[in-house]
Amino acid sequence: MSKTKGLLDRIKSGNATWSDYSKFLELDVNDLEPFFNLANKITFQNFENQLKIYTPNKRFPAISITGSECALGCEHCDKKYLKGMKPLQNNADLENYLTELSKNNGVGALISGGCDPDGAVPLIGFLDTVKKVKYQTNLIINVHTGLLNEETAKKLAEANVDIISFDINMDNEVIKDIYHLNKELDDYKRAVSLLKRYNLNIVPHICVGLYYGRLHKELESIKFLKEINPSLIVLIALIPPKSSKEYKKTKFETPKPIDIAKIVATIRFLFPKTEISLGCMRPRKNLKIEIEKYAVRAGITRIENPSKKTINWVKKRNPEVKFKFYSSCCAIPKKFEKFSESSEKEIKRYLNN
Ligand code: SF4
Repeated sequence: MSKTKGLLDRIKSGNATWSDYSKFLELDVNDLEPFFNLANKITFQNFENQLKIYTPNKRFPAISITGSECALGCEHCDKKYLKGMKPLQNNADLENYLTELSKNNGVGALISGGCDPDGAVPLIGFLDTVKKVKYQTNLIINVHTGLLNEETAKKLAEANVDIISFDINMDNEVIKDIYHLNKELDDYKRAVSLLKRYNLNIVPHICVGLYYGRLHKELESIKFLKEINPSLIVLIALIPPKSSKEYKKTKFETPKPIDIAKIVATIRFLFPKTEISLGCMRPRKNLKIEIEKYAVRAGITRIENPSKKTINWVKKRNPEVKFKFYSSCCAIPKKFEKFSESSEKEIKRYLNN
């Protein structure tokens, strides 16, 4: 107890070291309550008493500019996420689709796709179209870039894209063993410095448990976030691959809800004024509610598609909480919140008791 009290006091006073945060990540579940209470207090002080809920429905679709193609075939993905996106592989289709989306009450779109062998989403040929659409509509554009080059960063800025969802990863073993990429940590640092150079709005995503479902170098990625100092950080979590290959079945485990919560709390302590979102990629099914409840206890301010049961639990625990609902990706900047508010019809599943 006195060991954890010292740690808690150091975190509370802002005197904790990186080694303290490593110790925090190793704490037993029974020792965590006072840390979650602290995380909650900080969240309450800095973000009023509200929880923002995001449902990126058909008003905010995800588009793949490579269809289901990807040169990498990452261990955890193996193209399954691309298959769930709208394939739009030429400029005419992209322009028509986005223009129609805007006319039909659309809020925006996530433009994503598979990677080339260097770990970049091949966006460059589409950015004149994105620029045109941004000029002609009010759509909010969120883009996955991967390890982009300078020319792409420049064009993204000229196209006025609103959000760059960038996966921060400071783990060499993830680069080699999970992404199968012949890249170094410096390549990630270089990509981020390009995004910064062109004043692009970086919304860092950290995937908890990317290394076979276990906590590994997430703290290194959090350290790196200090160089970005973002106003919002999105946490996602590995979903183990459903591969028939036996070795994958045995190597991957599902990240523990408590580990996801520890990462949320660590970010909350280190970035007290930064919003934290529990994003769309995370284990669902039997772990969904446990992950969501722990993430709320650990200090998130945003959540994508929570379960109704989680919402009811939040209401019971905190009857004064104000819920806000948006029909968009969870990474949208505050200035777009009015524009992307959900209608009552869109959120009726949350409103009915
Ligand atoms: S995590 Fe949030 S911002 Fe990122 S793709 Fe999912 S909904 Fe969009």
